[in-house]
Amino acid sequence: MKGFAMLGIGKTGWIEKAAPTCGALDAICKPLALSPCTSDVHTVWAGAIGDRHDMILGHEAVAQIVEVGSMVKDFKPGDKVIVPAITPDWGSLEAQAGYSMHSGGMLAGWKFSNFKDGVFGELFHVNEADANLALLPEGIDLAAAAMLSDMVPTGFHGVELADVQFGDSVVVIGIGPVGLMSVAGTALRGASHIYAVGSRPNCIQIAKEYGATDIINYREGDIVEQIMEKTKGKGVDKIVIAGGDVDTFAQAIRMLKPGGRIGNVNYLGEGDYVKIPRAEWGCGMGHKIIAGGLMPGGRLRMEKLVSLMETGKLDTGKLITHKFNGFEKVEDALMLMKDKPRDLIKPVVLL
Ligand code: NDP
Ligand code: ZN
Repeated sequence: MKGFAMLGIGKTGWIEKAAPTCGALDAICKPLALSPCTSDVHTVWAGAIGDRHDMILGHEAVAQIVEVGSMVKDFKPGDKVIVPAITPDWGSLEAQAGYSMHSGGMLAGWKFSNFKDGVFGELFHVNEADANLALLPEGIDLAAAAMLSDMVPTGFHGVELADVQFGDSVVVIGIGPVGLMSVAGTALRGASHIYAVGSRPNCIQIAKEYGATDIINYREGDIVEQIMEKTKGKGVDKIVIAGGDVDTFAQAIRMLKPGGRIGNVNYLGEGDYVKIPRAEWGCGMGHKIIAGGLMPGGRLRMEKLVSLMETGKLDTGKLITHKFNGFEKVEDALMLMKDKPRDLIKPVVLL
């Protein structure tokens, strides 16, 4: 079968591979809708997780099942399914400890386009199908549903990590597709002021539609100064980081109130250290908590998140700015993600 792969750091191309085989608990799927991720860009062009050879890329898909293993109970060939980017081993000790995304080792619940071939293949393998797949409900648009693999669960996880509560004032740093879902999640959790940090005009417009009350443009001045001015020197209760770099944490600590929490979901592809400003961290005593995490995957989370779409509480369609038709367009979609034209939020390929 054919797949679009990372050939080595900085190199991509089409390759031929043997079709994946199905274990007793597993499923083999063919993609119906695919989307590239900024993480694919970090993986290939920044070499962020190390070198990978001939590994099929991609971890965002809606798919159709073509085969299930003998022990799979709830799915059958022909079912249309949402495939989460993170597909843990649910029996692992890490999963039993509540950190399924780290099943088998740090970040090891992230298998697609990390430890095994991803979803940009004519076929792909899903481990523990009953625990990791969710049925796609009737009437949900395929392209919009593809945002459930990673953009929604990751953006929302930033909100969970920051522990946003009713009435909190929140800064969301970064309003690409992940940060936009953090804005939407922050609004769903009942935040009051939502300060969204970004610069692309269409992202700014959509951030407002998802609930941002204030826009902070990081290209027009220091974001700490802008936030401190807007909050009359007090700072904010919670911060979600979904963009920026290793230096963003110092800014976040500076504009966070004592007792505040930072939830990071940004993939730090470069830089050796995250530096914490000593004095603004209360000389170590400020109760300013930094939490960073890979999104949780799995069936239950997919079912819950798609129910927000079914009930009209979440419209992920706004994220999709570019649509392609045909499997071979995966390459164009990924290059678009790499080049990030200013009007891009998220491309989707329909098959
Ligand atoms: P984008 O590149 O589309 O968005 C990044 C955002 O950050 C943009 O709004 C950008 O602004 C803003 N930004 C860039 N530099 C700065 C800066 N110095 N200060 C403040 N804001 C800045 O990325 P995505 O939304 O696709 O993804 C966000 C991150 O999440 C990526 O690192 C991705 O790899 C990661 N990720 C993590 C996952 C997880 O499980 N933890 C899973 C999936 C993705 P502008 O408007 O100017 O472009
Ligand atoms: Zn992703």
